Amino acid sequence: MTVHVIGAGVAGLSAALALLEAGRPVVLHESTAGAGGRARALADGTDNGTHALVGANTAALGLLEKLGVRERWVEPEPDGLPVLDCADGQARLISLSPFGWLRADRRPPGLSLGALAATAGMSFGRDRPVAEAMAAHPDFHRGFIDPLVVATLNTPSTEASTARLAQVLRRLGGPGATRLFVAERGLGPDLVQPALSAIRKLGGEVRFNSRLRGLEITDGRLVALDVGERIPTEAAVLATPPWESARLLPGLDVPEAHAPIVNLHFARTGGGPVRFIGFLGAMCQWVLVRPSGVSVTVSAGDAEAREDVDTLAPRAWGEILRAVAAFGIPGEWPIRTPECRVVKERRATPRHLVGKPLAPARLPLPNLALAGDWSWPDLPATIDAAVRSGQAAAKALG
Ligand SMILES: Cc1cc2nc3c(=O)[nH]c(=O)nc-3n(C[C@H](O)[C@H](O)[C@H](O)COP(=O)(O)OP(=O)(O)OC[C@H]3O[C@@H](n4cnc5c(N)ncnc54)[C@H](O)[C@@H]3O)c2cc1C
Repeated sequence: MTVHVIGAGVAGLSAALALLEAGRPVVLHESTAGAGGRARALADGTDNGTHALVGANTAALGLLEKLGVRERWVEPEPDGLPVLDCADGQARLISLSPFGWLRADRRPPGLSLGALAATAGMSFGRDRPVAEAMAAHPDFHRGFIDPLVVATLNTPSTEASTARLAQVLRRLGGPGATRLFVAERGLGPDLVQPALSAIRKLGGEVRFNSRLRGLEITDGRLVALDVGERIPTEAAVLATPPWESARLLPGLDVPEAHAPIVNLHFARTGGGPVRFIGFLGAMCQWVLVRPSGVSVTVSAGDAEAREDVDTLAPRAWGEILRAVAAFGIPGEWPIRTPECRVVKERRATPRHLVGKPLAPARLPLPNLALAGDWSWPDLPATIDAAVRSGQAAAKALG
């Protein structure tokens, strides 16, 4: 019995692989000309935006292992994350792991017993905005919690839920959980292409430019897909983003508020190791330096999403040059702003607001399973959530 998987983002790719491994024939439909969705390579090979994983993302790392590309995700900063505070010019190495804080020179600014207690309290107290919970510890909030919230929840900490942050924090306690990994060459060669190859190798069929227009449902069961032609269907996985899933299944409860991520990609050639630098008091939040280019991430970038490249690029490049000088990053770093491409992902993820996360039924119909980063209530919308949701959708179809 063929299962049709709709959407070739990480969730759909994971569902397709899991179904094929369980011996089910699969047809994967993707509305665009390429796979990856919100974690994709653009036509010129650049990633739409930097994607980082941490050791706690066991499902995502397990998928990479299965695809034989785990070693292509490198750990750029094993000794601590270089962080430049643009307000006072201080350059520090900060450990993401509380165990690392045993070393005084790896501690985040503002660390105190009170700040740690307030952070731990998020797991037990009432759900409220993170900024409110950390109000008594402004230095630790600014230097550690706020960047963590923006990076993991893609939501300003004035709005972000303490309960959602607590889900993240609980996972970061284990050994190796905070180790940070990035794709050495990019999402295309190090994730998406290997997943497509594995799907095809297992006999799966991938149809690009195949947009699901509607679902035909009779007597509470899915009977056909409308992809421009009518395809009688016995089972399907809907691995589309929330707004599209709600269009296809009216009445489905999906997150409605989303946050943008603004990405700037500077052309640069030159060798040197992959580096990952954090910023405080700057527009840049994270900068990934790869031999093929330099990429800036601005999560929860509501204001930056309204600005254009002529404003964003020189501002970011100025901050990058400060970090290059502060951390002695080797290579050629021209004073003049290099060619820059801006990618604005306006609905990068749902906003993780105060309130109970949605927990949609995995099987809204007996033969239709839901997947997608937004459908995994135990984690923020991330690659790890997408992988888990895809695998769970495949399992739910039996
Ligand atoms: C710039 C950026 C940076 C990010 N950084 C990180 C990070 O560092 N770490 C991390 O873990 N996560 C990160 N994320 C989040 C991560 O990319 C997403 O959580 C994940 O990719 C979502 O996968 P998905 O399969 O659930 O959804 P999507 O990627 O949205 O996939 C859905 C797919 O369905 C297709 N589709 C839609 N409608 C139809 C239709 N009608 N018919 C057929 N196909 C359809 C779409 O084209 C798409 O390919 C980032 C996201 C962005 C945008």
